[in-house]
Amino acid sequence: MTLELRNLTKVFGGGGKRVVRAVDDVSFTIPEGATFGLLGESGSGKSTLARMIPRLIEPTSGEVIFHGKSLTRLPERDMRGVREQIQMVFQNPFSSLNPRMTVRELIGEPLLVHKRASGAALDNQVRDMMKLVGLNPEHTHRFPHEFSGGQRQRIGIARAIILQPKVLILDEPTSALDVSVQAQVLNLLIDLQRTLKLTYLLITHDLTVVRYMCDEVALMYLGKIVEQGTVEQIFKAPKHPYTQALLHDIPSIDPSQRMLEQVSLEADIVSAPWSGRGCRFSPRCPAAQVGECRTVEPPLVTVGDGQIAACHLVQTVLT
Ligand code: SF4
Repeated sequence: MTLELRNLTKVFGGGGKRVVRAVDDVSFTIPEGATFGLLGESGSGKSTLARMIPRLIEPTSGEVIFHGKSLTRLPERDMRGVREQIQMVFQNPFSSLNPRMTVRELIGEPLLVHKRASGAALDNQVRDMMKLVGLNPEHTHRFPHEFSGGQRQRIGIARAIILQPKVLILDEPTSALDVSVQAQVLNLLIDLQRTLKLTYLLITHDLTVVRYMCDEVALMYLGKIVEQGTVEQIFKAPKHPYTQALLHDIPSIDPSQRMLEQVSLEADIVSAPWSGRGCRFSPRCPAAQVGECRTVEPPLVTVGDGQIAACHLVQTVLT
């Protein structure tokens, strides 16, 4: 089932408080069975965006279309069924699992809440799910603290898929884990996607995870998409100086990308605040040469076959 975001926007503040456009006019489509990566630093708005899809956070404007239906105007009672179909896996498996619940209770809870199974049927489904995610089904009465970080994330994944959803929103699913177990969890997610025909939205700040997992990727900066394309396009021919800066340390990048050498991310989002005028990346962009950079916000334009970027320099090069 295709998931489409149209002009999704979230504004916090107002009424005397500072107004922050945490997510600003974001649109993209994830085809059924694909993995779409949303890449950004903390403060880029990617987690707010993720939470607006199942309306854990209400959008200020824009739409989420799932299976041809707009979710944004659905009454809350109808969202219940939608949330069975669109599940989330969170970053920190320890804080997202109630420490006083056994694994049976944790994995079985969605079945009880949605009245799908109870008693022996629930026990069977929990054991099957534990096997599917690589946990020992003998351990149903153990508590979260008795498991390793990787195993706890497997419990979180089992909870997310036990209702047989169509879409998983994976919010930094491996960034709290040791490097040695990250690949195991990513491989599990790849296997589950094939077996269960899942569609993934993967939120991450980690380029390696994007390259390993995704078909397409969008880079978010201060609430807006600044570049989007297939993983191949973005890694071989990044067009936006922000993307180029992020890729700078990856040695396999095509050396013909001459701007790469000029760009580095010295300042961070907090120490180089954007004034609200011009390009939002301009306070950090060493490639900012055009007068417009500080006065006119660059629109997203097509820079390749389906690849888009928002940068005056890219437009200048193309025209
Ligand atoms: Fe840098 Fe200007 Fe492009 Fe913004 S528009 S990314 S400041 S070159």
